[in-house]
Amino acid sequence: MTPGAAPPTSPRRVVILGSTGSIGTSALKVARDLPAWMQVVGLAAAGNGTALADQAAEFNVPHVALADPTAAAATASLLPAGTALHRGASGLVDLVEATRPDLVLVAIVGTAGLRPALAAIAAGADLAVASKEILVMAGETVMAAAREKGVRLLPVDSEHNAIFQCLEGRDPDSVARLLLTASGGPFRALPAADLARVTVAEALKHPTWNMGRKITIDSATLFNKGLEMIEARWLFDVGMDRIEVVVHPQSIVHSMVEFVDGSVLAQLSHSDMCFPIQYAVTWPARTRGRLRPVDFAALGQLTFEAPRTRDFPALELARHAGTTGGTLPAVLNAANEVAVAAFLDGRLPFPGIWRVVEDTMNRHPVHPHPSLEDILEADAWARARAEAALPSFRCA
Ligand code: NDP
Repeated sequence: MTPGAAPPTSPRRVVILGSTGSIGTSALKVARDLPAWMQVVGLAAAGNGTALADQAAEFNVPHVALADPTAAAATASLLPAGTALHRGASGLVDLVEATRPDLVLVAIVGTAGLRPALAAIAAGADLAVASKEILVMAGETVMAAAREKGVRLLPVDSEHNAIFQCLEGRDPDSVARLLLTASGGPFRALPAADLARVTVAEALKHPTWNMGRKITIDSATLFNKGLEMIEARWLFDVGMDRIEVVVHPQSIVHSMVEFVDGSVLAQLSHSDMCFPIQYAVTWPARTRGRLRPVDFAALGQLTFEAPRTRDFPALELARHAGTTGGTLPAVLNAANEVAVAAFLDGRLPFPGIWRVVEDTMNRHPVHPHPSLEDILEADAWARARAEAALPSFRCA
């Protein structure tokens, strides 16, 4: 049996933003498995106070935050004695500042993670980034802040974690292409003519990953992969023209890097988000976790195919947003959030998602060098614009 690295002299003190969600609960599994590596010192959620209180009790967490003030008021009495509760959107920033952690895992769906992520960087904490939205919206700002403070961004998205592992210690100039793998989602083989009839339940049935609702719909439209292209552009400082997507339905190869000499490195493992979270916590060391070994003979084959970019326009919309830069990626992200919520509520057909996003992007006057305030303004503009556009694209 190979033992892996010995644990550090003291565990990394970790804050989990979004602890009640899919990534958050996977992170708590890692904390349960590896107490010598990871100590949970802060937890945050939107409104699920009951689950948050249970987590605080189990992990003896000194600080928690709830973004929804009503839920916070109802949760105060459920918390263990000695656990401080920070309230409202600013409560997440207060939580980060009060705990002074070594590492903050940002696993909040949507854009609410941006300010706490910047607060974490300002406090000198490393960031484990699951919320791709923060880099899509404000990649330049976040990366510049991280460089200035000398903190690390450790990717938790499985594709970016894979590329991070393939690139480790290598010169970025030696990279020819980043190849992001995509499962293709539940409609990979569905004829284009049938896309208008897909139901919410069908779109929520991801073939290989078990994730939150928003990202599962994004996987079905391929917007998830589009957002990941922009995320990769910032994390690895590689132009959009060197980032490509290849469909790999088995989700075993999590992504690949092609170097200038033509050699390709890939990272392979079963689909389990505990692993990239664990690697962000133990990096640069490796230790045994819950990842079961890949049995290649049992797998039989790994297949690859080109994405259907004409039938699923999300990839080209994201490539356009990422190449244009400025406020356009924030607009794509915000319009997509509105459109996904409308699809989940039955107010928009499935193809309406990319139509609303495209319409909103087309109407946006791009600010080429935005400040953080400009980005947040573009985000708010895009939400209002996309909401107003919904009736034009709604179900018949
Ligand atoms: P979920 O919907 O499962 O969970 C979202 C979490 O964020 C919940 O804890 C929720 O709290 C919390 N939250 C939402 N809004 C706020 C807010 N305003 N303030 C504080 N907390 C908030 O999402 P996922 O775990 O699936 O995804 C989280 C992020 O990770 C997304 O950006 C996603 O793209 C990314 N990601 C997810 C992967 C996955 O496998 N799930 C893989 C790779 C990336 P509450 O429960 O109270 O609502």
